[in-house]
Amino acid sequence: MSIGIILLIIFFFILSNFNFFSPPAENVDYSTFIHKVVKGDVKQVKFIGEKIEFIDIFKRYYNTYTPYNDPNLVNILLKKNIIISGEKYHESHFLTSVIISWVPMILLIGIWIFFMRQIYLSTGKDGAMMFGKNKSRMLEKNEIKINFSDVAGCDEAKEEVSELVEYLKEPNKFKKIGGKIPQGILMVGPPGTGKTLLAQAIAGEAKVPFFTVSGSDFVEMFVGVGAARVRDMFANARKFSPCIIFIDEIDSIGRNRGSGFGHGNEEREQTLNQMLVEMDGFESNKGIIIIAATNRQDILDPALLRPGRFDRQVFVSLPDVLGRSQILKVHIKKIPISKDFDPLIIARGTPGFSGADLAHLVNEAALCAVRDNRKIVNMLDFERSKDKIIMGLEKTSKIMSDFQKESTAYHESGHVIVGKFFPEHDPVHKVTIIPRGSALGVTVFLPKEDIFSVSKKKLESKIATLYGGRIAEEIIYGWDNVSTGASKDIEMATKIARNMVTKWGLSDKLGPVLYTKKNSADSESYKITAKNNNFSEETARIIDEEIKHIVDINYRKAKKILQDNLDILHSMKDALIKYETIDALQINDLIDRKKVRKPKNWSSL
Ligand code: ADP
Ligand code: ZN
Repeated sequence: MSIGIILLIIFFFILSNFNFFSPPAENVDYSTFIHKVVKGDVKQVKFIGEKIEFIDIFKRYYNTYTPYNDPNLVNILLKKNIIISGEKYHESHFLTSVIISWVPMILLIGIWIFFMRQIYLSTGKDGAMMFGKNKSRMLEKNEIKINFSDVAGCDEAKEEVSELVEYLKEPNKFKKIGGKIPQGILMVGPPGTGKTLLAQAIAGEAKVPFFTVSGSDFVEMFVGVGAARVRDMFANARKFSPCIIFIDEIDSIGRNRGSGFGHGNEEREQTLNQMLVEMDGFESNKGIIIIAATNRQDILDPALLRPGRFDRQVFVSLPDVLGRSQILKVHIKKIPISKDFDPLIIARGTPGFSGADLAHLVNEAALCAVRDNRKIVNMLDFERSKDKIIMGLEKTSKIMSDFQKESTAYHESGHVIVGKFFPEHDPVHKVTIIPRGSALGVTVFLPKEDIFSVSKKKLESKIATLYGGRIAEEIIYGWDNVSTGASKDIEMATKIARNMVTKWGLSDKLGPVLYTKKNSADSESYKITAKNNNFSEETARIIDEEIKHIVDINYRKAKKILQDNLDILHSMKDALIKYETIDALQINDLIDRKKVRKPKNWSSL
């Protein structure tokens, strides 16, 4: 941009000094003119007021001015046969030259005004003076009316952040004990799941000020502005410590460096660096907790996730049935509701709804009642509003179809059952068919102890369990109907098998030899060829065979487990569709072929 302006300036500079209405003329003095006339060099003369323009016999142009009105001049000229003409001297000539010399100035001022306006618009009402100041909004501690009871359906996330409240209440106490409290927390989850709400609730519970700012507020077209704003924001927050800084959409500044292109990249990097510098200034940030929210932690710059920065991640996923009914219960407190209202029924019919969608639903239902002139909101209002919202959500494909739900339930059950039948495998903590990130469902295993080294048996149980999901789909829907949902599972299983063969010396044929360059198995492509390593094509072929062999054996083991326990697969699918999330105790019931108990907290309804 700056180059463009410089070019413009140069262009107008040339323009204003260049009179292109007549050819360039040389200024000479009057005596030279008379001299040339006498010599017979002058061919044509034109009088414009006191100015004389003349052309000599070589067609060169000259200007001069008469010092006085020489009455003899015309006679001399006539005698020399010089063509004489005259022109009325008029103001406009002067005016044009004024305009020509002023146009560039005016244009420059125009451009300047344009950019200042841009800055003004992007800085907000406080105008250009705010340039470089941060745009965070502060809620004073007594302005925050939200506490933990307003956030429902994400108990785990709530539990994870609860210690922050204690810390914010008395930062020094923690310091004395030597307790380490994370300064940076990354809340990961889809929009509307209550990340902002939860962050505010922490501030509300701890009674500390709450700063909110969006990552996109730091993204400016001028290099250095974002960084200045970050500095300003932290300086400001330090004055109010202990406090919480909440950065929404952190991905707009924290995107992996080097992944972007074109304009704005340098600016973003500077902003990000400033953020890292501020977060590393640990001691001086005492009592400040930075909570950042994102939908995509996978695109964040790894530097942001290092220890001492956003090293604690809290997942806030879409609520399951139970979560949805709890959220509904929070929101219906604000409206008069009929006695027959059953949050569980509405929750069952709203899979895929986020907390924000549910808040919207309650609001719509209330409007429905108002339209009918009723004072009490009833079930029918909810049903009608629900259908309306679902139609909107379907367009954005946020709603899971019944088939998708069922196949996800089978897939996840497959993982769980295979995992359960391998004694070496980590115990299952819980399993859900609520989408998280790009995965449709999640099975969470909890390692019993810290893993420093893993046995061959355990690795094999992992591979088998990873294929469990895919195999369950295959058994139920047939080979032709398996989905692509298992791509991550396949990737992970293959990676384990490859490492077993090439790194960990766990292949019978190849023995304990390192067949890979350091870290190459972690890189984007796992393909090891003889070319980029120093072993023969033959060895490369055996490596591939061995990997395939390990995968095949465990695939077959997993398939046998599922075929032998098909009844459990079906009943687990049913339980998952009913409860969406099931825990370890319920899973044990299912594996023991007993009646499934209700999940924890379910009785609170
Ligand atoms: P996010 O920051 O994750 O995009 P918000 O916190 O801004 O979502 O949520 C928007 C609104 O949706 C909240 O103000 C609240 O009314 C409602 N909401 C979202 N999640 C929940 C929840 N878990 N419990 C209660 N209300 C919620
Ligand atoms: Zn899977």
